[in-house]
Amino acid sequence: MRDFEYLAPSTLVEALQLLSQAAGQARLLAGGTDLLVRMKDGTVNPGQIIDLRQVAELRGIREEGGMIWIGAMTRHSEVASSPLIQAKAPLFSEACRLIGSWQIRNLGTLAGNLVNASPAADSVPPLFTLDAEVILANHRGERTVPVALFAEGPGRTCLGKDELLTSIRFQPLPETAVSFFLRAGQRRALAISKTSLAFTGILDDRHSTWKEVRIALGAVAPTVIRAHRAETYLVGKPLSRKALEEAAAIVSEEAKPIADVRSTIEYRRLVTGNLLIQGLWPLMKED
Ligand SMILES: Cc1cc2nc3c(=O)[nH]c(=O)nc-3n(C[C@H](O)[C@H](O)[C@H](O)COP(=O)(O)OP(=O)(O)OC[C@H]3O[C@@H](n4cnc5c(N)ncnc54)[C@H](O)[C@@H]3O)c2cc1C
Repeated sequence: MRDFEYLAPSTLVEALQLLSQAAGQARLLAGGTDLLVRMKDGTVNPGQIIDLRQVAELRGIREEGGMIWIGAMTRHSEVASSPLIQAKAPLFSEACRLIGSWQIRNLGTLAGNLVNASPAADSVPPLFTLDAEVILANHRGERTVPVALFAEGPGRTCLGKDELLTSIRFQPLPETAVSFFLRAGQRRALAISKTSLAFTGILDDRHSTWKEVRIALGAVAPTVIRAHRAETYLVGKPLSRKALEEAAAIVSEEAKPIADVRSTIEYRRLVTGNLLIQGLWPLMKED
């Protein structure tokens, strides 16, 4: 590793000032589970490290003004074990519970997972179906960006050089919502997702047809994507196995994966559709 200057601000204002003075030469440190790997293999060589771990304003989970607010430095283990998230966005807590291992979840943060901009980042598909917003700040002020516009490609985001991600917010799901996050990897733990799927759906008052549906897919395109055609297909459809199988076939078509050392295109497409079937099958009635 090359030498670097280590800075540890204790407030957000201080962190933003340091970032603006660094003129693009600094890297922010959250949990370090991505950044340190890259610094050790030499792909990232920052002149300065701005460690955000002492900035208390960037931590926490709360409900305010009808929205759920989560500080950027909140760790995956904190999201997974939060009673508020378990009640109001259970699929998000499920996704964070599946990330890496205990050690990774106790260090890794939401900001790191989002800024890393991996299409396989597990916390991101649930945030797409929750229509979450990310809040970005620099020393001049802040702006809000829909999570779907934050990542622009593998490893690329809309963050400016002097900006940091401060928090994430979204509306809680209604109690009656159906939601889940499922992923397929080489192993159950410590394996990058080969494909993943997040689902949120609201049924009509008689619990017989879908009124609203959101589906997001991970690891099958350059960024996480929504499966808009499958969503539109399912709205108004009954809880039938036939409709579910058709929706899964559409999901498989909407997935645009690459082939790599971990999977073939055909495998990823088929399994992505099957994740929808796996998640919704217990709700289905006989056709
Ligand atoms: C063994 C192992 C297993 C893993 N398993 C999984 C897995 O199953 N699923 C998964 O999704 N990921 C996994 N990861 C990847 C990683 O743990 C996650 O992406 C994690 O959330 C990164 O968070 P961090 O806080 O450690 O980020 P860091 O490494 O500290 O930072 C990552 C990037 O984000 C930037 N950054 C951090 N905070 C901010 C901020 N507030 N504003 C702007 N930029 C910021 C940093 O400068 C850096 O570029 C794994 C990693 C390892 C090493």
